[in-house]
Amino acid sequence: MTANSQASRNADCQVRGITTSRYDHARSDLQFLLNNEPSYRIDQLWQGLYGDLADPCDITTLPAALRGKLAEQLPEALSEEHRSTSDCGETIKWVWRLADGSLIETVLMHYEDRSTVCVSSQAGCAMACGFCATGQMGFDRHLSTGEMVEQVVRAQRASGNRRVSNVVFMGMGEPLANYARTWAAVERIHGALGLSARHLTISTVGLAPGIKRLSEESLPVNLAVSLHAANDRLRDDLVPANRRWPLATLARACAHHAATTGRRLSFEWALMHDVNDTLRDAAELADYARPLAAHVNLIPLNPTPGWPTRGSSPNRVREFAAELVNRGINATVRLTRGLEIDAACGQLRASLSTVDIGTARSEAPPSLPE
Ligand code: SAH
Repeated sequence: MTANSQASRNADCQVRGITTSRYDHARSDLQFLLNNEPSYRIDQLWQGLYGDLADPCDITTLPAALRGKLAEQLPEALSEEHRSTSDCGETIKWVWRLADGSLIETVLMHYEDRSTVCVSSQAGCAMACGFCATGQMGFDRHLSTGEMVEQVVRAQRASGNRRVSNVVFMGMGEPLANYARTWAAVERIHGALGLSARHLTISTVGLAPGIKRLSEESLPVNLAVSLHAANDRLRDDLVPANRRWPLATLARACAHHAATTGRRLSFEWALMHDVNDTLRDAAELADYARPLAAHVNLIPLNPTPGWPTRGSSPNRVREFAAELVNRGINATVRLTRGLEIDAACGQLRASLSTVDIGTARSEAPPSLPE
């Protein structure tokens, strides 16, 4: 094992407490566990863990004694605390308990043409967006790379022969505040689990330095920015990170990302009654989104106990979307999925477990190369 990988493992262990997910280990780390074994064992183990999503006990290409040893050395990090299913089995939501007792969520959503897993990148969140259930909880800790990858593996196991095709980092936490581990998870999900980069999306409140860093990575992933307001006065209030990276700074980072990766940018906009759902708000959003060729996802706010504002009425949502379209912006209105299963965290239900109810296209949509 190199000094670097040992150091990053130590750092992860410090973050996580005692145990490590089996998916935290880089291939070189696993090689280290197979010290006196023939060299082809690493391929068998890697294929077992990532190709077959198997428990080490069940990797039958390995000798029984080695399986037993690896099973002890390579535990899973996520233990199922709660699982709920809705939409006739098309949406599954998990609450996982981690080794230190922290609770996180994962959602699997099947659509006709894809299956998407929404993963958490942190337990809790430090970004303090008042309307967000996770923001209201505060920050607990970063997740390790393995804890993120394992969410995808566990969802894929439950998904059977419907292959998980998309991963969105839109669960609990701010992925760009946990940059190195999140990026390592992206690389593992791409390289070892075989998902295409164009099917991976990182969602952020708008940490401009993190967005710039993303732009420099060799793997071009999609970027979603939780915008919610297109003037600094309102956004400072709704998304406190805006006070540090105001809209002009954010726009520069987004433009750089789009230019260097060729990926489409999308803005998330939770429509809040009389807060950000007027025609004037739509006009501001259009002016902000147009030069960035951004796609807008509209979701009526899911009210949470700490932020009693209600979501916009269906009429307001329609008017808002129509105004965007008139102003040349592509917008998708989303409807909440998994309504009856949401227990602890309103955030996922409102913003992610969604199903498209219509994409409104402007006459001459701004376009970026895919
Ligand atoms: N921190 C990242 C990812 C997690 S939040 C980010 O902010 O993008 C995922 C999405 O859910 C964000 O767009 C967030 O603004 C949205 N969201 C949070 N609480 C919500 C609520 N109560 N109703 C609707 N959307 C919400």
